[in-house]
Amino acid sequence: MTKYLPIVEKFHSLQGEGFHSGKSAFFIRLAGCEVGCPWCDTKHSWNSKKYPLFSIDTLLSEILEVRLKGASFIVLTGGEPLQHNLDDFCKIIKNETNTKKNNSIKIHIETSGVNNFSGFYDWITLSPKRHKPPKDYFLEKCNEIKVIINDSKDIQFAQDIKEKVSKIKKQTNTYKEKKFFVQPAWDSNKGYRLAINFAKANPDWTLSLQTHKYLSIQ
Ligand code: SF4
Repeated sequence: MTKYLPIVEKFHSLQGEGFHSGKSAFFIRLAGCEVGCPWCDTKHSWNSKKYPLFSIDTLLSEILEVRLKGASFIVLTGGEPLQHNLDDFCKIIKNETNTKKNNSIKIHIETSGVNNFSGFYDWITLSPKRHKPPKDYFLEKCNEIKVIINDSKDIQFAQDIKEKVSKIKKQTNTYKEKKFFVQPAWDSNKGYRLAINFAKANPDWTLSLQTHKYLSIQ
């Protein structure tokens, strides 16, 4: 039973990236990540011991409040949120937000897919990492794949991931259709050039930008 979770920050904002970009959401950034991406822009989140534990009941109260203010889904991000077992979180939040007036609030998660799966989600964003590839389960079940582009090896990695997903699709009848995004690393001019050219030449892929950073919002 995981009743308490270490939290770096939580805030109501607009989803800045990927398929749900521009929509009102409540972000919960969980602490802890052992994936170790050199270009990580949330390195401060890696050590979960630095952050306070919040009970699921406390998080539920905030979720009920922000829902009244317009947040239409929760985004669990990190760090690597699946370093924690999220079964209890999802169960309690889904049950307690299901009222006569409203259906359960939707829960989205952004993960690298390297840990075991836990919880249940309305939307899974897989952001696979070249140095620690994701488990096949995530390649099959995710709703979107977002590859961060720094250099040409990342473009090759995006193509390899797509090929692997196509193989998995042929092997199972429980495959989930998905969207494919390339997203330039925020401070990489080379990454922007490569991602733009790749999306132009490969219409199966869409360019994702960190619009919240352009807008200077959280
Ligand atoms: S998985 Fe995410 S939080 Fe962890 S190191 Fe990589 S970019 Fe940073």
